[in-house]
Amino acid sequence: MPAGFRTTDYHTAFARYEAVRHRLPEAGTPRVTHRAANLAEIADHFDALLLDAFGVLNIGEAPVPGAPERLAELRSLGKELRVLTNAASVPVQDLLAKYHRLGFDFTLEEVVSSRQVLIAAAAKAPARHWGVILPEGSDTDDLTDLDHRLLTSDPADYDVVEGFLFLGSKGWSPEHQEILARSLAKAPRPFWIGNPDLVAPRETGFSVEPGFFAHDIADSLAIAPTFFGKPFDNAFDMALATLPPEIPRDRVFMVGDSPHTDILGGNAAGLKSVLLTPYGFLASQNVEQVLEQCEIRPDYEVAAI
Ligand SMILES: [Mg+2]
Repeated sequence: MPAGFRTTDYHTAFARYEAVRHRLPEAGTPRVTHRAANLAEIADHFDALLLDAFGVLNIGEAPVPGAPERLAELRSLGKELRVLTNAASVPVQDLLAKYHRLGFDFTLEEVVSSRQVLIAAAAKAPARHWGVILPEGSDTDDLTDLDHRLLTSDPADYDVVEGFLFLGSKGWSPEHQEILARSLAKAPRPFWIGNPDLVAPRETGFSVEPGFFAHDIADSLAIAPTFFGKPFDNAFDMALATLPPEIPRDRVFMVGDSPHTDILGGNAAGLKSVLLTPYGFLASQNVEQVLEQCEIRPDYEVAAI
C-alpha cells in the first residue's frame, strides 16, 4: 500500500457501493453472461475496446500477465484500443508514461482519464476560484488554465474557494474531511469529484478513494457531488468521441474488473461489458455470488485478458 492512504476491506467497499446505488446510473436491461477464456476468443464480436487500467492493464506497478502481448495481438487484427481510467491524481501524460514503462504502446490520444473529463467540464463552466484536493507537491501542469489553489489543512483555504475539485485522496485525513464538511455546510458550493471510485485494489488491500469521501459528505450534508468518470456517461462520452464514428456502440466493449464502475457504466452507456475476474476488485471473491447480490451483469466474463 502506498503511504498516506486510508484503507478498507472488500466487504465494506461492496456494502458502500450498494448503499450509494441511488447516485449511480441504472443497471439497465438484464443481460446474459457468456464465459470466454480471453479477449481473443471473442474478438469477432467487437471493433473497439475501452480498457480499465487498475486490475486490467496493471496490478499496482506491474502489468497484468499477458496484457501487453494480448493488446498487441488485438491491435494487429485492426481493433481500436482505448484506456478509460478513473486515475485522477496525476495528469494523463504521467499515466501514459507509466503504461509505456509497463510495456504498453498506447498513444496520448488513446488514453482518457476522468481527470480530463473533469478539466474539460471546468473549462466550460463559469470561472471560479477552485480548491483542489491533491497531495502537496502533486503535478498540476494540466490545471494551469484553471484558477485554483491546492487545499492544505488551513480551514481558511476551504472557506475562500468557490468550488472544490477532489482529484486525489492520498494524505486525505479525517481532519481534512471534517474541515471540508464544515466549510461546505456553512456555504454550499460546487463539489466536483474527479474519481468516483470508492476504493482501489492495491497489492496489500484497498485504498479509500475520492468517491468514498464524497458519498460520505453527500450522506451527511444535503449536497449533491458532481461525479466525473466511470460509471457516469461523461466519461464514456469522451472516450467514445475518440473512436471512428462508424463503429456502433454494441461493437464497443468495456473491459473492467469492477461491477459498480466498469460494468455498470458500460451497460448504461449502451456498450457491451466484459468482466475480467482474476485481478483487482473481485480477486479472491466468489464472482457469481457477487453478481447475484448487486444484479450487475456483464455480457462476458473472461478468466484471462
Ligand atoms: Mg479497475
